Amino acid sequence: MADAKTGELMEKIVSLCKRRGFIFQSSEIYGGLNGFWDYGPLGAELKRRLKDCWWRSMTQKRDDVVGLEASIIMHPKIWEASGHTTTFSDLMVDCLLTKKRFRADQIDPQSGVAWFYTGAVDEQTRKECKDAFSVLVANGKHPEHARKVARQFYQERGLASPSLAGERSEEVKDSTRYNPENGGLLTEPRPFNLMLKTYVGPVESADNLSYLRPETAQAIFAQFKNVLETSRQKVPFGIAQIGKAFRNEINPRNFTFRSREFEQMELEFFIRPDEAVEAICGRVAKPTAPGHPGEPQSDWGWQMWHQYWVEERIAFYESIGLPRATLEEYWQKPEELAHYARATVDLLFKFPFGAQELEGIAARSDFDLSQHQRHSGKSMTVFDEELKGAWGKLAAARQAELAESYFQARLKYLTKMGLPGERADKQAREEAEALGKGYYIPHVIEPSAGVDRLALALICHAYVEDEAPDEKGKLEHRVVMKFHPRVAPITVAVFPLLKNNPELVKKAKEVRDLLRQHLPVFYDEAGAIGRRYRRQDEAGTPFGVTIDFDTLGEKGPELQDTVTLRERDSMKQERVKIGALAAKLLESSR
Ligand code: ATP
Repeated sequence: MADAKTGELMEKIVSLCKRRGFIFQSSEIYGGLNGFWDYGPLGAELKRRLKDCWWRSMTQKRDDVVGLEASIIMHPKIWEASGHTTTFSDLMVDCLLTKKRFRADQIDPQSGVAWFYTGAVDEQTRKECKDAFSVLVANGKHPEHARKVARQFYQERGLASPSLAGERSEEVKDSTRYNPENGGLLTEPRPFNLMLKTYVGPVESADNLSYLRPETAQAIFAQFKNVLETSRQKVPFGIAQIGKAFRNEINPRNFTFRSREFEQMELEFFIRPDEAVEAICGRVAKPTAPGHPGEPQSDWGWQMWHQYWVEERIAFYESIGLPRATLEEYWQKPEELAHYARATVDLLFKFPFGAQELEGIAARSDFDLSQHQRHSGKSMTVFDEELKGAWGKLAAARQAELAESYFQARLKYLTKMGLPGERADKQAREEAEALGKGYYIPHVIEPSAGVDRLALALICHAYVEDEAPDEKGKLEHRVVMKFHPRVAPITVAVFPLLKNNPELVKKAKEVRDLLRQHLPVFYDEAGAIGRRYRRQDEAGTPFGVTIDFDTLGEKGPELQDTVTLRERDSMKQERVKIGALAAKLLESSR
């Protein structure tokens, strides 16, 4: 729970985000729209840079991952196959008095005395309302509070001056049945589907109903075959995508942390089922120690791949300036796992409002591709030449053992999906037989991260208040955003010492144009140099370059064409040759 101090820190961060143009409320001039946010100039750069970092590390720096950019609105059957139309819901409760809606699992348990009423009668008209109602009053608080809230409830139901009926009270402990704001009774929890609906085409009919995607992952599964056939990849390989997702969250909160429109960065990494690995390699390697398991090996089973991706993702966060100590790994307990998941690790970031999910890394078995195969009628199996060759060399008893293990896994899935016993059995047998010929549906490991949550984590982690000397060397309070140079919205600011000296300005613009070819640069000539530094500290710019009279050669040829390079965090300054600047800055921001 956020206490006053962390609340105050969040307020400062939210206010800096607005003041410096990182994040604005969407539609602010019309009062805003709850759960929607806009990124200003610095925020847009920050997001762009961290998406670039993710894309580079996930696709361009690897041979085994390719990219995809799919449409936001897809065939509604995709969401039937994925289970979103039936199960993508949160339990919600409404306050019976104010109609305010809450997510059931976000109501904190409360204790006190509950006052019950069987109904009420209007004192003037004698009109009756028989709706039962109750109000929770904290221990020690006067029951008159309960009566006041109850009267409002019956007034809402058309009794101008209600006289309450059947009052009785009862001690209540740790109840989540009451509105924490007014003590009024809540409705029973009901599922609320989080998908945002729209209609495609000119007619608003049930046939044209579509959804704004609640995750980017499903497009990857739906396009799996096309990508496989055109990319010359072989399992194990992955497909990565960055894009918008939409969820009609019941209670958007904690600034951008829980929004209704957000961006995801998702990888679906397809691997062989363990039976195929065993047939090919004669064994299935499993994790033996915590930590990064090193370069992928062909004998890895799903557990090794899962551990590999957890460690890869943590290494990614470290590389953009979120140290391991700011993160927590939460391994979901068996009872928390989705029915198809074999293991899920949530990577949490320690936000000021508590440690909360930044990314989930799930081992999802072959569930997703199996579902799309079943719903679309299109085969999602791959042919694995190596498996076919290896299978033929296995002893008959080993073949039978592996086929049985695969049969059992497929039977479990097919039965769970409601296929009648005999048909499930027949299909699972056929699939186990096909395994021996080199065919299977790939399993998948899914690291799924949110761009906006990551941007917020970086902003929270970067925010520091310290002291820095002003023009005259006097220490003054400064706010500095200590972004890692890899993600900072601006890498370097270029300042001519004086605005009104044409030679300094000309030289500074030359330096700006030179650096601009390689890095995001900001040119600023307005105000005292100390103030210009301070502005860049708040923007999180890691380097500042000042062009002064020494640069122009006034102190002799030695300092000519050198500039002062100032580092934001240490505030250290050094003289650097203009010709060496770009390489130096690139080295620390790549
Ligand atoms: P939560 O439990 O917080 O609702 P989730 O487990 O439903 O999240 P996933 O479906 O696993 O989230 O989505 C993957 C990632 O997408 C999350 O780790 C998060 O970074 C991001 N994400 C999900 N929902 C939101 C949201 N409403 N606003 C911002 N980012 C989100």
